[in-house]
Amino acid sequence: MDTRLRENLDRVRAAIAEAAAASGRSTDDICLIGVTKYVDLETTQALLDLACHDLGESRPQLLWNKAEAMQAQSPRWHMIGHLQRNKTKRTIPLLSVLHSGDSLRLLQAANEDWDKPEPLATLIEVNISGDNAKHGFAPDEIEPALRQIAALSNLKIVGLMGMASLEGGRDQAQQDFAALRQLRDRLQANCPDEISLEQLSMGMSHDFDLAIREGATMVRVGSSLFEGLGGGH
Ligand SMILES: *Cc1c(COP(=O)(O)O)cnc(C)c1O
Repeated sequence: MDTRLRENLDRVRAAIAEAAAASGRSTDDICLIGVTKYVDLETTQALLDLACHDLGESRPQLLWNKAEAMQAQSPRWHMIGHLQRNKTKRTIPLLSVLHSGDSLRLLQAANEDWDKPEPLATLIEVNISGDNAKHGFAPDEIEPALRQIAALSNLKIVGLMGMASLEGGRDQAQQDFAALRQLRDRLQANCPDEISLEQLSMGMSHDFDLAIREGATMVRVGSSLFEGLGGGH
């Protein structure tokens, strides 16, 4: 398993480097988040052993279990899925980055449950495609909320997170990523001083190259890393 996992990881890293180079960016400016929601503890552990220190989960329960089991190696945990407010107390203290800041109420709950002196790096999730099934702020809801969000002193808002439309293929995905970047640029111009929207978390296995071209600084990659390993997906 480790050989195949290593090959997959090398391939993803090479594709990130290629996409960065093609758009005149440095690979160092792009963080690969290994999304481990499909795989068990052993495979998650193996990925960390291959120096993928940033790990993403979309379900709180899985994150709790893995974070507890892997506490000694202290990976950087990224919460990338919707978090119900009754799960923030147990989830928030485990995180390095909250990507799915998808409502003001959730951000307020996260602010209350963060227990460390340095604020929690947090992204505002945007429902860029307007898909009803997706979580996140509508693009025009963010600016009116920025002052309230900036007042949450236990959170450090660092950027925006979004997902491409399910339909429309790669052309639509690229448009969605461009729209998220443009929204970021517009908001940044009117942001309170406490907020700096440098990070763009966008791009998954099938479209991270496009996301990087449009300015992604964090890509969330799952299935490409685990191809050919058998098991859960
Ligand atoms: C599952 C998931 C990913 C990874 O998707 P892949 O297509 O498997 O790379 C990225 N972001 C979010 C929010 C996810 O839920």
